[in-house]
Amino acid sequence: MQKIVLQGIAYDDKSSYLRGTAKAPPVIRESYRSISANYYAENGMEILPEIFEDVGDITPNQYFDIEDFTKSNLNKKFRLITLGGDHSITYPVFRAFQNQKGPVDILHIDAHADLYNEFGGDPYSHACPFARIMEEGLASRLVQVGIRTMTRHQQEQADRFSSEVIPSAGFSTAALPEFKNPLYLSLDMDALDPAYAPGISHYEPGGLTSRQVIDIIQHINMPLLGADIVEYNPTRDINQMTGMLCAKFLKEISAKMLEFA
Ligand code: MN
Ligand code: MN
Repeated sequence: MQKIVLQGIAYDDKSSYLRGTAKAPPVIRESYRSISANYYAENGMEILPEIFEDVGDITPNQYFDIEDFTKSNLNKKFRLITLGGDHSITYPVFRAFQNQKGPVDILHIDAHADLYNEFGGDPYSHACPFARIMEEGLASRLVQVGIRTMTRHQQEQADRFSSEVIPSAGFSTAALPEFKNPLYLSLDMDALDPAYAPGISHYEPGGLTSRQVIDIIQHINMPLLGADIVEYNPTRDINQMTGMLCAKFLKEISAKMLEFA
């Protein structure tokens, strides 16, 4: 059986507003194992716990410990799912994928473009990871979906990096491009409307529905090498409903990874 490596990064040092996302990994695991739901993804694939090579969670001392930890966990097939943590983790996690041969495209689902050159004086803020990734040329393509907080500075950054921005307004899966390279998926839970995902730090109304995000995942037609689920903040959740949504996405992402295994 093809295994997917599962790692947790208990890290929220780079959050600009609230702490709490460091508490997410164990709550997502618990939600995934909850007997209130079964292990089936919607394509009929059963995503049992044995599918995961679960390496547990780390609490990094320093930011780039995240890259070393990810490198040590990547297997030969480069199939790895990371549970955040705030969105700053995506840059060091994605750096670890650079040993993979050939170009990798990024599908980024978020209310925010996270393209700031720096935020609050920190170039590694959770508002910056895609600026770091693109200026280093780590990704061959960046497609950003669910965006609804674009600033002039970030639009300039998007233009500079040729990022393809698909706003939340009027979204349908028909707006998604055809990918031609293997993919990395980065899913910020605040892409969803806060009505669907109250367990987040930054409430930005007008977001995607749970169904739309599942449809985006299921629409992926290229091998999915890596993925992260970030910005879940259990301290803001209601009855663990956002935790269960993260668990649902974990199952759907895993099913998509195994589809190309
Ligand atoms: Mn983000
Ligand atoms: Mn966000």
